[in-house]
Amino acid sequence: MKQYQLIGSFKQLLTMHDLPIKGKLNDDDLFVIENAGIVIRDGLVDTVGNFEQLYKKYKNELESVQELEEELVALPGFIDAHTHICSSGSRARDYAMRNGGKSYLEIAKEGGGIWDTVTKTRVASQEILVEGILRRAKRLIENGITTIEVKSGYGLSVEEEYKMLKSIQLANQKTIADLIPTCLAAHIFPKDYDGSITDYLTEISEKLFPKILTENLSNRIDAFIEQEAFSKEIIAPYFQEAKRMGFDLTVHADQFHTSGSEVAIQFGAVSADHLEASTEKEIELLAKSDVIPVALPGASLGLGCNFTPARKLLDAGASLAIASDWNPGSGPMGDLLTQAAILGAFEKLSNAEVLSALTFRAATALKLHDRGRLEKGKFADIVAFPTDHFNEILYHQGQLKPSQVWKHGTQRR
Ligand SMILES: [Zn+2]
Repeated sequence: MKQYQLIGSFKQLLTMHDLPIKGKLNDDDLFVIENAGIVIRDGLVDTVGNFEQLYKKYKNELESVQELEEELVALPGFIDAHTHICSSGSRARDYAMRNGGKSYLEIAKEGGGIWDTVTKTRVASQEILVEGILRRAKRLIENGITTIEVKSGYGLSVEEEYKMLKSIQLANQKTIADLIPTCLAAHIFPKDYDGSITDYLTEISEKLFPKILTENLSNRIDAFIEQEAFSKEIIAPYFQEAKRMGFDLTVHADQFHTSGSEVAIQFGAVSADHLEASTEKEIELLAKSDVIPVALPGASLGLGCNFTPARKLLDAGASLAIASDWNPGSGPMGDLLTQAAILGAFEKLSNAEVLSALTFRAATALKLHDRGRLEKGKFADIVAFPTDHFNEILYHQGQLKPSQVWKHGTQRR
């Protein structure tokens, strides 16, 4: 039976094969196949290798051959492990105020900030939210991203968080990208809530968590650990309950003050995201743990503050994923490759480190072991850039766009 599909030849194919989850990487560590082909079966990679040799070997079993006309460098489809693309409304006023000298926390106190987006998202219908997710997902796909994490967190009540998660689930059925939903009901304490912070978190865990499980809306719980959000003491019982119910945990950690990464390590979270304020102590602890640090350069660019200490994390032996944090407040750009290239330039990251942070290390930050490398059995999610060398991709700082994208072996761009 003819059941294989062959795509090629690619000038270069970066498989990301055999690279470690943690620690620093040199470009020499990259496994690059020249004049490469990919053999795909049922949307999964079967073999990679020299195109001509693969053609000869599989000739009689090929259902289709896609011969590429342009010179392309291919790598695993990118994974954006942290976004807030389910939201409504602009925060351009915040942006102007911030650049006019007000701090993030001052703006929040004046009624801007996350609460502003909560107000606008609550009045948006599910249809509007789905449409917004799909519009942003389309742009991400065009930029080579085939898996997108999407958080709730602008509903901040059982009902409104449910609406957000349901919107993400509906959007997931309408986009070719995989949307990975995360419940961020613990984003900030909703100031209209009639009760204490603990009451709020208890209500979420008692009334929303079971619904999330029953309707398969998410298997991930996130919390913003910060002075203006939730303290490590207040979040502990919430995280304990989430763990007991079988959820994976992830944390908005060390963005302005430390303690979030400590919580992430203590509860065995899959990732600790932000880390702009992490010191040597947190870096050491993260390096010793299995928590994946996720840098969000889009937030640093949006807020005009320092970057996550990516170089120090990698040198200490930690892993590193890079995500866009696309959100209407601190991260309006939503251009992952541009942000990753800029972080690489400021933090002195090798191409291998940046590209790993967008592929298999980002997959690990979402606990997804079925994608992020082009090797046997993994998703045939592929992004290809019109160039002859992988060095060109980050050199153009996001301006070199992918010309072709495949999801599960099907061409989508
Ligand atoms: Zn975030």
